[in-house]
Parts: sequence; C-alpha cells; structure tokens
Amino acid sequence: MKKAKYSSDTRKDDLIVVTGAGGFIGGALVRYFRDKGFTHLRAVDKKPLPQWYQRIEGVESLCLDLTNEEYCKRAVAGAKEVYNLAADMGGMGFIERFRIQCLRSILINTHLIEAAYHAGVDRYFFSSSACAYNTKLQEDPNCRALKESDAYPAFAERGYGWEKLMSEMFCQEYWAERKMKTFIARFHNVYGPWGTWDGGREKAPAALCRKVIEAKYEGGGTLEIWGDGTQTRSFMYIDDCVKGIDLIMHCDKLIATPVNLGTSEMISINELASIAEKIGGIQLKRVYKLDAPKGVAGRNSDNTFIKSVLGWEPTTPIRKGLVPTFRWIEQQYLDRKAGKKTVEDHL
Ligand code: NAD
Repeated sequence: MKKAKYSSDTRKDDLIVVTGAGGFIGGALVRYFRDKGFTHLRAVDKKPLPQWYQRIEGVESLCLDLTNEEYCKRAVAGAKEVYNLAADMGGMGFIERFRIQCLRSILINTHLIEAAYHAGVDRYFFSSSACAYNTKLQEDPNCRALKESDAYPAFAERGYGWEKLMSEMFCQEYWAERKMKTFIARFHNVYGPWGTWDGGREKAPAALCRKVIEAKYEGGGTLEIWGDGTQTRSFMYIDDCVKGIDLIMHCDKLIATPVNLGTSEMISINELASIAEKIGGIQLKRVYKLDAPKGVAGRNSDNTFIKSVLGWEPTTPIRKGLVPTFRWIEQQYLDRKAGKKTVEDHL
C-alpha cells in the first residue's frame, strides 16, 4: 500500500484541545504541538494545576473534571481538534484493583465526544489500549503479536479494557452515524521522562527503574519483581507515541479504525529489569512476588497494519529509551531526598 498522506487543514492558530494534559502522555502531546508551532492550545485535566506533571508556558490550562457534561462543553468550545488522553488509569497494580474507577472513565469519553460533536470539532482522537484485546490470546509469554482484529470476539481486560473497547465503539459510531472524524490508537505500554514513577499507578519500566535507583542509593541488594518475570510486553518511548498520535489523527484512511501504536520489540520483565540494572550500574538479587498483579502472560504489537498505512512505526529500542527515563527518575528521586518537589509530591 502507498503511504497515506498527512491530511490537515488545521492552521497554526486553530484551537487544539488536549485532555489528560496534567498527566504523562497528554503533557508530552501539548509540548509536542507547542514545539511544532501551534499557538492556540488548551490543556485540560481534573488535577489541580500545581499537581500537573508539566505546565507548558503560553498554554491555556484548565482544571476540569470531565466526567461532568457541562465541563466537557467548556473544554471543547471553539476547538478544531480534540485529543482525549484523560482516564483514571495506572499500571497492573492499579487496573486490577480499581476496576470500577477504570470503568467510570467511560463517562469522560461519552460526554467529551458528544460535546465535541456539538461544538463542530473537525477531528477527535481517543487513546485506547492494548488492554482492549482478547485476553485469551495472551496466555503464553511467547504468544503471537496482536493484530487489530484480535479485539473481537471480545474478552478484554476486566474494567479498564472493557471501558476502552466501549469508548472505541462510541468513536466508530460517531463517524458512522454523524460523520464526525474520529481516530483511535491502541497504545502498548508507553514510558519516558515525565511519567508516573511512584505512588501505585506507575507501570513496569518506571517501577523497575525506581526500585533499582532505591537499591543503588539505599542498599538492600534485592530487586522485587511482580510475577516470575517471564511475562512479556513491548514498550514504546514517549517521543514515538506523540508522533504516532499526530500521524494517526491526520490520516483519513484511519478514520474510525483502531490501530496499534506500540513497538514490536517484545521483551520479558526479567530482561527489562536487567536493562534497568545495567543503566544503574548495579546487579541485584531478584525476589519474585508471585501473588502480585502481573496481567496477561504475553503481549506484543503486530505493526503490519500501521506500517502499511503510514509507512511508519515506533522504533525506539527499549535499551535506548530507558536511559533518559532512568536518569529522569533518578533526578526525581534525588530531588525528593533533598526535600524538593517532584511530580509525585502534592505539596
Ligand atoms: P496519566 O495517568 O499520566 O494521565 C491521565 C490524566 O487524566 C491524569 O492526569 C488524570 O488526572 C486525568 N484524568 C483522569 N480523570 C479525569 C477526569 N475525570 N477529568 C479530567 N482529567 C482526568 O496516564 P497516561 O499514561 O498519560 O495515559 C493517557 C491515556 O493513554 C489514557 O487514556 C490511558 O488509558 C492511555 N494509555 C496509556 C498507556 C501507557 O502505557 N501510559 C497505555 C495504554 C493506554
């Protein structure tokens, strides 16, 4: 297939709205658009402004809870493009334990997409997840990579995955019935600087970096791993993620069509731990916590479809992307030790 063209008539001064902008990916996306020269950006999150991971200068930043219909109208008023990155989410420790909270994120997309439609928004993006895939296909660490059609017959991750699947369906129907252009990416484990690294919502790459850093500075000599460490995943660096969001949102061949956004480099949690140890310059004794939440046994992204449409896929190897991630978490750790504020401290 020929590479699809980038289709956008959005001007640099048109309003772009990013929700979940006080969090990891939303914050990075706002910065990405600002760096691309967009001058009219609105960032929205329910967290009070001092708790946002990144605040980008010159960007209108609003603290609004988007489970509320009226606030959704306020958030998208005048927008040309809306990127919905807001969700109550976290790593396996969070999504296995707080399924109701995850399911309730359906209120965000339900109200936001309706408000976007009435506001005459041109393009609407929804951040879905690989957790929407049928879990029965992920029972082996060496299972084949997931392609887009593997979400059905549906057997998604309880709570979080079902919310994503239903919200994808909303996006598809707003195109089918009302002709609003919607775009859906299924992210596979995103990591990088400015991500959650402590407090219970962090994901495996950040959690392992933090544990290695703690061992480096506090001693102890052990590294706790959830499960037996053989579970496999692929991990996408944040720069690939924001670029992919932009490419997907501006590809008319992908309207209302879920697409994988992840790398196809599958590694085990044990290998991930070794990479973190190598960066930290320390080797630790592994302690396996077998009753901890660990998610599916294996998951990888089949990138045949995204490559065929965009002629592009995320390629940053985990060995490369984990270096700046580790260094950033290390600095956060040292800042906290020195009594300075970090992204996880809500002083
Ligand atoms: P994050 O937790 O860092 O950011 C999400 C933000 O949404 C948070 O700042 C939170 O305060 C905000 N939010 C939650 N409820 C809200 C509400 N009611 N109103 C307004 N804001 C609200 O998470 P992230 O990693 O940046 O994830 C962004 C999106 O990508 C989410 O939809 C997530 O499900 C999806 N996703 C992320 C990953 C990943 O590996 N990080 C993987 C798959 C999918």
